[in-house]
Amino acid sequence: MAAGAPPGSPPDDEPAVAAPASLPPLAASLRAAYDPARFRADGHRLIDRLADHLVAAEGRDDAPVLPWVEPAAAQAAWPDDLPDRGDDDLVDVLTRIAAGSIRLHHPRYLGHQVPPPLPGAALADLVAALLNNGMAVYEMGPTATPMELAAVRWMARQLGLPAGAGGVLTSGGSLGNLTALLAARQARAGFDAWAAGDHGGPPLAILGSTQAHYSLARAVRIMGWGDGGVVPVEVDARWRLRPDALDAAWTRAADAGRRVVAVVASAGATGTGAYDPLAEIAAWCAERGVWLHVDGAHGAAAALSPRHRHLVAGIERADSVVWDAHKLLALPALVTAVIFRDERRSYQAFAQEASYLYAAGDGDRDAAHAEWFNLGLRTLECTKRMLSVMLYGVLAAHGPGLFRDYVERVFALGAALAARIDAAPDFELVTPPDGNIVCWRWRPAGGPPPGPELDALQARVRRAVLVRGRYYLLQTRLPVGVVLRAALMNPLADERELDGVLDEIRAVAAV
Ligand SMILES: *Cc1c(COP(=O)(O)O)cnc(C)c1O
Repeated sequence: MAAGAPPGSPPDDEPAVAAPASLPPLAASLRAAYDPARFRADGHRLIDRLADHLVAAEGRDDAPVLPWVEPAAAQAAWPDDLPDRGDDDLVDVLTRIAAGSIRLHHPRYLGHQVPPPLPGAALADLVAALLNNGMAVYEMGPTATPMELAAVRWMARQLGLPAGAGGVLTSGGSLGNLTALLAARQARAGFDAWAAGDHGGPPLAILGSTQAHYSLARAVRIMGWGDGGVVPVEVDARWRLRPDALDAAWTRAADAGRRVVAVVASAGATGTGAYDPLAEIAAWCAERGVWLHVDGAHGAAAALSPRHRHLVAGIERADSVVWDAHKLLALPALVTAVIFRDERRSYQAFAQEASYLYAAGDGDRDAAHAEWFNLGLRTLECTKRMLSVMLYGVLAAHGPGLFRDYVERVFALGAALAARIDAAPDFELVTPPDGNIVCWRWRPAGGPPPGPELDALQARVRRAVLVRGRYYLLQTRLPVGVVLRAALMNPLADERELDGVLDEIRAVAAV
């Protein structure tokens, strides 16, 4: 026994060293759940079922695109007690989930800006899920870290940004916009807002069009700038930010005592898909010393098509760009690039370390920060999925031409749907589309003029289409009123769907 043992210790003939605490045997449940043989067998069966799902959807089967169930009924149908008996077949459960879900691969899906993901990208995502490299520090993503930096630099090059541009991947355009605006604030506020908080200087503002995505207004409020933090800039007849209205917006901000740190331009506004005139906006920003942030979540991918590149002319002058790969790069959600013209700015979103970063000069931007390889310093996420795997996998397997073909196809679908609407006497095209988002109204002969009744008619028609489930399309409210809206995201759609959706509207409206 140990020296100086207290009174009452075991007598000397007991073992001097306690036996190692015995480890209970591995639970059978754990052994079974981690069993590679089971994974192999389930995986093969699951892939077969998912391929059947694709065959049915892409084959335009008659099952609904969206098996519509009222939300309360859907809630009631899912038992409150989770199916936790443990004797369900995983593949069957996953198949039931697919059966109740909206089917993005069906060509009659004409809905949100969420693509039918490339099946190969879904396989790549499975790799990310299984490897689960956490990404915040390099050791937890020794492949994913360099892959991510390379992927973002590739995207920056596609936009024509100069050498030295780069950034990080994050989970969604909303978070991406916040990340970029945090960096813009730190760069242009004129005080250290990260350290001093919002009270360290004058109130701040961004200028953005009335069509800017709501995540920007949210980001501004999250930063504590309040209601006046977004100064709206008027749009033209096609919903594009008017550069000649920037001066007036600036003055309104100044009159309210606010310092403008950034202009936010949309490269593909969510509602109408309109592209703001980036080159003119960039010139204005350069003159004023204001940061230009381009929200290209939806439409930056136009840069990949020689035919549509002109829409983003000037994006190469942006200070930051957000680009969702889970929109027009057809990847599963969420993969968003936050790209900075100067990659070192990416550190400024969540810290203020610029002084020593910039002291390192313009030489090697990797060496400029001692921990450039620990990406968690530059994102709100701590643990993060291996977001670059999907982009990398698709580029490796198909090349960038696939993305170009995708963009050109869905933009052509947008133009073709718009042409049909324009030619039909009972429909009104709200605006010629720049890309794959089309807005229009049902205007039957003898129908109501623009106003609440016409708005109600659009809403009624849209609801009837939704409930019937054969097609999926949207409605939105623009300054002209309520409109029907479609984002053409499925490249496999063709004339049948373009004619069919208009006929579907006529059919449901007649009931
Ligand atoms: C979709 C979209 C967003 C939001 O991106 P999420 O990835 O859905 O968070 C922001 N801006 C624009 C222009 C968008 O189209």
